[in-house]
Amino acid sequence: MAWFRRSKESISSESQKKDTPEGLWTKCESCGEIVHKKVLEQNLWVCAKCNFHFRIGSKEYFSLLLDPGTFREMDRRMTSKDPLTFTDTKRYKDRVKDSIKKSGLNDAVRCGTAKIKKKDIVIACMDFTFIGGSMGSVVGEKISRAVDKAFKTKAPLVIISSIGGARMMEAAYSLMQMAKTFAKLARLSDARVPYISIMTDPTTGGVTASYAMLGDIHIAEPGALIGFAGPRVIKQTIGKDLPPGFQKAEFVQEKGFIDLVVNRKDLRETLSKLLEMISS
Ligand SMILES: [Zn+2]
Repeated sequence: MAWFRRSKESISSESQKKDTPEGLWTKCESCGEIVHKKVLEQNLWVCAKCNFHFRIGSKEYFSLLLDPGTFREMDRRMTSKDPLTFTDTKRYKDRVKDSIKKSGLNDAVRCGTAKIKKKDIVIACMDFTFIGGSMGSVVGEKISRAVDKAFKTKAPLVIISSIGGARMMEAAYSLMQMAKTFAKLARLSDARVPYISIMTDPTTGGVTASYAMLGDIHIAEPGALIGFAGPRVIKQTIGKDLPPGFQKAEFVQEKGFIDLVVNRKDLRETLSKLLEMISS
């Protein structure tokens, strides 16, 4: 029966499969499109088909937003201690050590001075890959020092948030960072130094409840989840279905918490224009 017998070798024969190196392709979480990582990178880690913004880290944001070679990192060596000798599935001390090794970062935020189209700024960018971008005492301290730097130099402050919440392994120490960063930002505001907050996917918990929502201008990337408690928790608490797009950047903008939803490719240009407006 020739009609069901394969006349040619399968196009996905074993030899061909072996020729495709591992990890070159990735799937869009939103539309399911299979995208080559190189193509995705050229498109600033945004799906060309549906505009889904893939999560990226400080390294990528610095390279796409800042003038090349202008970033001077501050407090790079600061690492988390383990004040509560906390252990869950593993010791917090080991978790930090593993995260440092895996991510090449010392904690969940990197701060420094830089320029955007020749304008001086102080910038902080969170990294979700480091223990879920959680805010512990190092994140709080580094953000506070970045605010101090902006206060001293009068350069506008830009913070890019990407975080799942407070770092549970530091308990109350982690929660104290909310008050600390709040106080520093209040002082910055009194000194009339501008602060632009950029919220990426996800910006939740203690960071939303403190510095992310205290900007003079709030920008979000399309589709970013922005809220305090996540939609699942809210749904369980109120026992009702949530409206479509609940807590997405566009929904939050409609409610007045976000000023602008900006595509990643336009972020540098938008920041530059805003900095121009603010300084004149
Ligand atoms: Zn897509």
